Amino acid sequence: MNTSSFKDVERSPSRDMDPAEFQETGETLLQWIARYFRESEQYPVLARTLPGEIRKALPTAAPDAGDTMQAILEDFERILVPGLTHWNHPRFFGYFPITGSAPGVLAELLTAALNQQAMLWRTSPAATELEEVVLDWLRQLLQLPQGFEGVIHDGGSSSNLHALIAARAAAAPEVRTIGIVARSDLPPLRIYCSEQTHSSVEKAAIVLGLGQRAVCKISVDEAFRMSPEALLKAIRADKAAGIQPMAVVATVGTTSTSSIDPVPEIADICEAERIWLHVDGSYGGAAAIVPRHAHIFAGVARADSVVVNPHKWLFTPLDASAFFCRRMDVLRAGLALTSDYLETRETGVKNLMDTGVALARRFRALKLWTVMRYYGAQGLRERITEHIRLAQEFASWIDASADFQRLAPVPLSVVCFRAVPTARALSPDGLDELNSDLLERVNASGEVFLSHTRLNGRYALRLAICNIRTTEAHIATAWRVLRETLARIPAYAS
Ligand code: PLP
Repeated sequence: MNTSSFKDVERSPSRDMDPAEFQETGETLLQWIARYFRESEQYPVLARTLPGEIRKALPTAAPDAGDTMQAILEDFERILVPGLTHWNHPRFFGYFPITGSAPGVLAELLTAALNQQAMLWRTSPAATELEEVVLDWLRQLLQLPQGFEGVIHDGGSSSNLHALIAARAAAAPEVRTIGIVARSDLPPLRIYCSEQTHSSVEKAAIVLGLGQRAVCKISVDEAFRMSPEALLKAIRADKAAGIQPMAVVATVGTTSTSSIDPVPEIADICEAERIWLHVDGSYGGAAAIVPRHAHIFAGVARADSVVVNPHKWLFTPLDASAFFCRRMDVLRAGLALTSDYLETRETGVKNLMDTGVALARRFRALKLWTVMRYYGAQGLRERITEHIRLAQEFASWIDASADFQRLAPVPLSVVCFRAVPTARALSPDGLDELNSDLLERVNASGEVFLSHTRLNGRYALRLAICNIRTTEAHIATAWRVLRETLARIPAYAS
């Protein structure tokens, strides 16, 4: 970062940074960010630091006298940048890649400057009403009916937690006041989800005081989709044993393989058994805005709540998770709490603090609004469509190779696969070892970053495509690095 032109500015302890200094530093920072976007490919995707290295390079206590921005930014570049794993890199294929898109980053700058706290309508009418409007835009793109009201939480884990808070409020409204401890009158409550469901559902059960044992994991078919027959059987068995079903969580785009649970059949069961249905589309839901892929949301309109994370696959910087609920008043009844000092006289307005655990709320709608306007629905659709095409392309390379094997269908933008040596047979454990070794070596190259999962108990490599800057050239690099690295592994080559 070129900070050499920074002037020493006289400081007053009672004021913020001088506006002239802010402007000068801000312009330098914007130049740095623009270059970062232009040249992000020069960075190794995975940080190459050792544990503790960053901490050791930093002072152990805060400075007594203030530092200059020049010194701060120089340390940022010298100490912190080498310790970054570059999630905004077009060759980041691990977990679910995310995108700090340029329009989203600019909106975040405004969000920081305005520092809105949208707990009450009056503490930010603009943030409150924009959140309502922009989520209604997203609802329409997802073809969810009008009855779904939206609110933004910080992530899919939070949205899943809020869905289950609402489900519990629906199943046992008195829990709000008397809780669940030492209740002989309250049967054990059960949450059903598949073996492939994201761990945040289990975490929510812990937070809600239900415990991990309240989560019943339903088996999946060969394509990693929840079995509706097994679900119904589990519900019936629980009811017979005096356990009260509280919620079913179906997933559209599971974390390991992007599999899509059969929501219409699951919705039939939930309606017949009168159980709250939550659909976790944190990652995959975004694809439902594309007409060609809208079938993935079949039956979702019948759910009680749905989550789609714009910070995963709608090119919005962290953090933004859209939580839609058909019965938001149930969540409000279970959660809203207004202290004396938060009472206001406005009527007919939404106070966003009523639909979430958090009181302080950032102006997150601004970045989503900016991203949706800048790309337009068509632009978002084209990019998601291309990512799915790239995943199919990568899968076709795997399928055509004698040295690799695909381990799951590819309904969206995730490919699960592993290396299988043609030269010599390895035991199942030997294959796991080989693939774990391959992943470590591939990621150490810095050229690409992939992550792994386990499917049917066995180690699987996993390539996911969600970053707006990823092109076919980037997945071709991943394919080349994988093959070249495999050829160099002694256990494979010998
Ligand atoms: N649900 C699914 C299906 C996910 O894949 C993830 C994260 O990858 C989550 C929920 C949690 O989302 P977040 O990381 O935004 O809390």
